[in-house]
Amino acid sequence: MRFAGIIVDISNKDVDKSYTYIIPEALRSEIDIGTPVTVPFGKRTISGFVTEITDTTDVDPEKLKPITAIDTKAAAIEHQLIRLAVWMKDTYGCTMNQALKTVLPVKRKVRARTKNTEPLPLGNEPPKALNAEQLAAVNGILQEFRSPQRRPAVLFGITGSGKTEVYMELIRRTMDAGRQAILLIPEISLTYQNLSRFTRVFGGQVGIVHSKLSAGEKYECFERARKGEISVMIGPRSALFAPFPDLGMIIVDEEHEGAYISDSAPRYNAVEAAVKRGELAGAGVVLGSATPSVHTFNTAMDRKYAIFLLKHRAAAGSSLPHVDIIDMREELKEGNKGMLSRKLEDGIRERLEKKEQIMLFLNRRGYSGSISCRSCGKVIKCPHCDVSMTSHKGNILKCHYCGYTVGMPDRCPSCGSPYIAGFGAGTQKVESLVKKEFPEARIIRMDMDTTSRKNAHEKLLKAFGEGKADILIGTQMIVKGHDFPRVTLMGILAADLSLNVSSYTAAERTFQLLTQAAGRAGRAGAAGEVMIQTYSPDHYAVTCAAAQDYISFYKQELAYRKLLSYPPAGAMMNVVALDEQEENAAAGIQTFYDYSASFLRGEGKIIGPVDAGIAKIKDVYRKQFIIKHPDRERLMELRDRLQELPGCLRQIDIS
Ligand code: ADP
Ligand code: ZN
Ligand code: ZN
Repeated sequence: MRFAGIIVDISNKDVDKSYTYIIPEALRSEIDIGTPVTVPFGKRTISGFVTEITDTTDVDPEKLKPITAIDTKAAAIEHQLIRLAVWMKDTYGCTMNQALKTVLPVKRKVRARTKNTEPLPLGNEPPKALNAEQLAAVNGILQEFRSPQRRPAVLFGITGSGKTEVYMELIRRTMDAGRQAILLIPEISLTYQNLSRFTRVFGGQVGIVHSKLSAGEKYECFERARKGEISVMIGPRSALFAPFPDLGMIIVDEEHEGAYISDSAPRYNAVEAAVKRGELAGAGVVLGSATPSVHTFNTAMDRKYAIFLLKHRAAAGSSLPHVDIIDMREELKEGNKGMLSRKLEDGIRERLEKKEQIMLFLNRRGYSGSISCRSCGKVIKCPHCDVSMTSHKGNILKCHYCGYTVGMPDRCPSCGSPYIAGFGAGTQKVESLVKKEFPEARIIRMDMDTTSRKNAHEKLLKAFGEGKADILIGTQMIVKGHDFPRVTLMGILAADLSLNVSSYTAAERTFQLLTQAAGRAGRAGAAGEVMIQTYSPDHYAVTCAAAQDYISFYKQELAYRKLLSYPPAGAMMNVVALDEQEENAAAGIQTFYDYSASFLRGEGKIIGPVDAGIAKIKDVYRKQFIIKHPDRERLMELRDRLQELPGCLRQIDIS
């Protein structure tokens, strides 16, 4: 006998509550996971969805009832989302419940008064007439979506080429056809400036979700989508699951952003999930970026995605900025021990005189203003996380993973030497340095400290946009898709820090950051200039970003990935064992390693096991190994088996 686990109320918060029914012989071949069915429930017959199929059950089969029929009238949208959940479970190796909780809106009460939904400006900004290149992209994309193969479209447009206008036109045409659209954007670019462009054009048709909404508010917003009260949903990852009845278009802006990969189970990639939902819904999928991920571009080169180019900047009179690479080793040789090269200082002075704006981007990825000992060379680390502590104003050290804070010691904890000092700099230090050099300049600093309060991020950007400051200093959060027409100089400090991260994507991340940062300058009229300060002036991630030459970066990066069998040249699986006891984590990883070795019998290559890049986070030890293998399916099979082994907590990702 075969049994089915069935959820009967998909808007219930415990979707894990499923009821068991018998699958009648006659329906066997038709019933699959995700199939909508009708079942007897008390005295009624109600509809539900199959989430599990088994040969055994804990319940006495005598007491079970059979499924009545397949529900041909079931709402197609639920069916679609459940199929998406099934795909998620298979692809990312999570449980069905985790997948269902991700894709289905959970019903929650909305508190009577909520303040999170601030009204966005309505009004009439007449939309810009598309230029020839934008129009060609719109028409090409729509033509692809009408063709039988309907491949996802990559919109590869340089910074400032006007991708947003293309998105708006695609959404408009989708709405004209009576269908709905989803626009995914990275959380960080959910700014007033970006959103107001959409609400001005589409007014009350737009729903916006973001991480600050309560579960109830989000549910309500999704209900409006289901009922047809809105036609456009904008938001980060989770907006992808808006239950639109006739979804026609999914657009993923800045598709290369790491924020599209969920960091808790299911650890799904929203770009892949968007492609899947597009397939299930019969909707077109657009992946937009000035720096497409190597993976996406590679898929387009294999002709599995269609590709459309925007090669020119859209705003009247704007052109690509002039980029200079400044070798900081030379500066040191010539006696400049400071953080700003002489050239950048001159550039800042000149812009201040001309009353133009300046952005200073401090690339701190993989690094923070750490404190090291000049005698023994050791860096002061967080006792709980094994990452370097960061110095902050007021002589304190903070861990950015767990928040642990201590006073600045006056002697090295390892060797007792009094010669300990900050190595490199953080945004605060850059700020005080710039202040000292240019006392008359008005400065806004954006980093984790100045943006932790609600809406702070937005307010600071708005103030800068309105010309209330001359210089904006910040971390990665200042480089994402903001349009500041008065910025004519972008200084990039420590461009190569992100190259030192121990990950095969370090060069890709660096290239993306530098290209996006460089793209902030000279976006309207005035000539833009970019200065990249680096200790690796010859690295292709730096030189290609300076030349704004994606293709040549891509070619060199792909050659490197092929050489070392990194994705997309092959598949890779990362297995991490986690435990509060170091020996348990070590024993766990050994078990997983041994199992993998005997499963693969020499196929592929296993590297490790070793301590993970960050060996300890919040007092949990992390040991890992990676497997490179040409066949992703094979790794998925191994992953599913590893998930079932007894032992410590594990986290397994395939890329
Ligand atoms: P991207 O997202 O591709 O970096 P944006 O969409 O932010 O670029 O557009 C860059 C600038 O060009 C914006 O100020 C926008 O208003 C302007 N712009 C876009 N399309 C046009 C157009 N067809 N004509 C004039 N200006 C345009
Ligand atoms: Zn020391
Ligand atoms: Zn810590």
